[in-house]
Amino acid sequence: MAGFKKSPWIIHYDASSCNGCDIETLACLTPLFDVERLGVVNTGNPKHADIFVVTGAVNEQSKSVIRNLYEQMPEPKVVVAVGACASTGGIFRQCYNICGGVDCVIPVDVYVPGCAARPEAIIDGVVRAVGVLEERHRAMAQIGDRIDQTQYLRAEKSDAPQILALQYVAYQPDAQVYGEANVPPLQQTLEELERDFERMVFVKAEVNGRLIGSARGCANRQAAELSRVMVHPYFQGRGIGHLLLTKIELAFPGVQSLQIVIGNKSEQNLRWLQRQGYQAVQTEPSTPATTTVHLHKECK
Ligand code: SF4
Repeated sequence: MAGFKKSPWIIHYDASSCNGCDIETLACLTPLFDVERLGVVNTGNPKHADIFVVTGAVNEQSKSVIRNLYEQMPEPKVVVAVGACASTGGIFRQCYNICGGVDCVIPVDVYVPGCAARPEAIIDGVVRAVGVLEERHRAMAQIGDRIDQTQYLRAEKSDAPQILALQYVAYQPDAQVYGEANVPPLQQTLEELERDFERMVFVKAEVNGRLIGSARGCANRQAAELSRVMVHPYFQGRGIGHLLLTKIELAFPGVQSLQIVIGNKSEQNLRWLQRQGYQAVQTEPSTPATTTVHLHKECK
């Protein structure tokens, strides 16, 4: 670990464990294992953390907390599921209030087995997480250096796995606002997305073969319905969304108008679409808690 360029800062959250894995996690900080001597810092602030260590199975109450903490962590970040419960739900898997392991809410990078997971295994999991983190830092930096070489291309069905992975990351803030069950992009399966390729046009933003943005749309008589204009959170704010939107708009040259439907709580997206020339023309309730806003743009 002496070769690490940056000390890994971790944040630990107990999703609903029996405390066994928590005690072992805390044991890593005690003088016997003393991970702090290796530079591993246990921070209480997700905004400072690189590695998210979760113990215990995920229940209905811990779901939103996990998502909230994950959302606040800066990119790139790595998630470590410690113990059988955090990995799969473990012995609590069949309980009425358990939805499963951590990967039922957020993407997990490293799984540490055991019930309870031993401190040596937890430290090994953190070391692996540091490897993933460094790899991610390198990849992001390489893409960042070549961001001016971004290509905007038609996406093929073979891009579906990458698009779905991006969709899962890009829509985490919406899950925070609306609740996971109300965010269809997070519920979509690979098969459904592949089927969408039969009726929709997809475009992608790609740097050096890595997909960092996507948008889709389909023509409906004289109008085209556009949706899921998304950019990886690490690369947002660089004009990629604007170029993706332009590209997908140009994919429907014969239509008279363009339409986009979004949730009323996506205020930032709403303002951004209005800056791109879209006007809100209609609202309608979609769930008891949310309303959808229909945006419209005339084609010249
Ligand atoms: S894996 Fe075992 S020790 Fe860890 S939280 Fe689950 S039941 Fe407890």
